[in-house]
Amino acid sequence: CGVMAIYNHPEASKLAYLGLYALQHRGQESAGIASADGIQIYRHKAMGQVSDIFTAEVLAKLPGRLAIGHTRYSTSGDSALLNAQPISVECNKGRIALAHNGNLVNAHEIRAKFEAQGSIFQTTSDTEVVVHLIAQSREQTLEDAVADALRRIEGAFSLVMTTPDRIFAARDARGFRPLCMGRIPASEGRPETVVFASETCAFDLIGANYERDVKPGEMIVVGPEGIHSRYYAPALEQSSCIFEHVYFSRPDSLVFGRSVQASRDEMGRQLARESHVDADLVIPVPDSGVTAAMGYAAESGIPFQFGLIRNHYVGRTFIEPEQRVRDFGVKLKLNPVRALIEGKRVILIDDSIVRGTTSKKIVRLVREAGAKEVHMRISCPPTISPCFYGVDTPSKKQLIAANMTVDQIRDYVGADTLAYLSLEGLKKAAGEGDKTSYCTACYTGKYPTQLVDVHLEDLAA
Ligand code: SF4
Ligand code: MG
Repeated sequence: CGVMAIYNHPEASKLAYLGLYALQHRGQESAGIASADGIQIYRHKAMGQVSDIFTAEVLAKLPGRLAIGHTRYSTSGDSALLNAQPISVECNKGRIALAHNGNLVNAHEIRAKFEAQGSIFQTTSDTEVVVHLIAQSREQTLEDAVADALRRIEGAFSLVMTTPDRIFAARDARGFRPLCMGRIPASEGRPETVVFASETCAFDLIGANYERDVKPGEMIVVGPEGIHSRYYAPALEQSSCIFEHVYFSRPDSLVFGRSVQASRDEMGRQLARESHVDADLVIPVPDSGVTAAMGYAAESGIPFQFGLIRNHYVGRTFIEPEQRVRDFGVKLKLNPVRALIEGKRVILIDDSIVRGTTSKKIVRLVREAGAKEVHMRISCPPTISPCFYGVDTPSKKQLIAANMTVDQIRDYVGADTLAYLSLEGLKKAAGEGDKTSYCTACYTGKYPTQLVDVHLEDLAA
């Protein structure tokens, strides 16, 4: 998911809308904005994409100088309007609206306790437990109640929240998901605006300057009294999601303080060093393989060509929850350029193989376009274990690399050779070191948290 927050701007909901536009790649199932004018909170959410949901008329009904926004792709709870965010409630601590990126690993447990005590939940989303925890907290002030709630949830959360006159932004103590803070400078009588977003590409669109990341375990509150920050919990060993750099984030963003473009370029270069093969062309699987393919081509000296053309008017297949749509999605999205490919030895670069269905189809498309040899190179290690922290990887049964060796996968997808980037190579490319340390659980099966809720069948091969 993508989250966005704006504090103190006359057109707050419009800026949130623009920010969500830039974060659309983080979720395309539903989107929503909640705005606040000092007294009331207004909200609109709907299924579909940002541009379809927010017309000028809708935005006109979201007044006030504060706003938060969300684009959703479901990793927990159904894909349905009731689970769209922001979630907005009125409780004993006041009115709040909240938006969440990530996935809690103890939400079921907390929810079961509340339900046993008679609480009624309105959604099937893990995020709703946060609202209940805030409402039920014994702390007196809203800020203390939020801190209390955040200490009780486990897993991945980058949260933004609005009250009628304050914005809250917080990140889990391991820093799984990104969340950054920026400012739009004051101008012509308009005071400075403080903004938060999942990725800095949202700042670029609204003219905000990136200032810093919200830190793991930190909660920032922006209100009439100014900005203040506190650590609601001590930061734990950092485990930021390395898959943000592999696939999820936009290459024009800074994520965890590092350029995604630089990471992907280096993944491609490292891949070329680790698994060289003689060939005539390097072709990316667009769009996710493009940056790594450019790095691969630069390092290997093999020419880069756009040999597969993407139809940009189709959403990412991965986000579509239904198998039927996913299957025909590849052909709808990609077409090979026969004039480039015919008679050539081709290196295809993609960011990841999940189920293997995409790669299989693409290799076939490229062969049908006349390729003499097809070599697949993947800019991360084999995905062998599901994510419980906000990326919708399927259960182990459906992960091809959990069930086949690399040679078997090569045969399944029909490539002449197949190689993945090593884990060490990936970490190095993403800048693992003093500044950032990463979660790599989907490649290792070693999870940085307890998995309280987890269904064992997700982990059964
Ligand atoms: Fe990211 Fe993989 Fe860790 Fe999930 S398991 S947070 S996708 S690195
Ligand atoms: Mg892709």
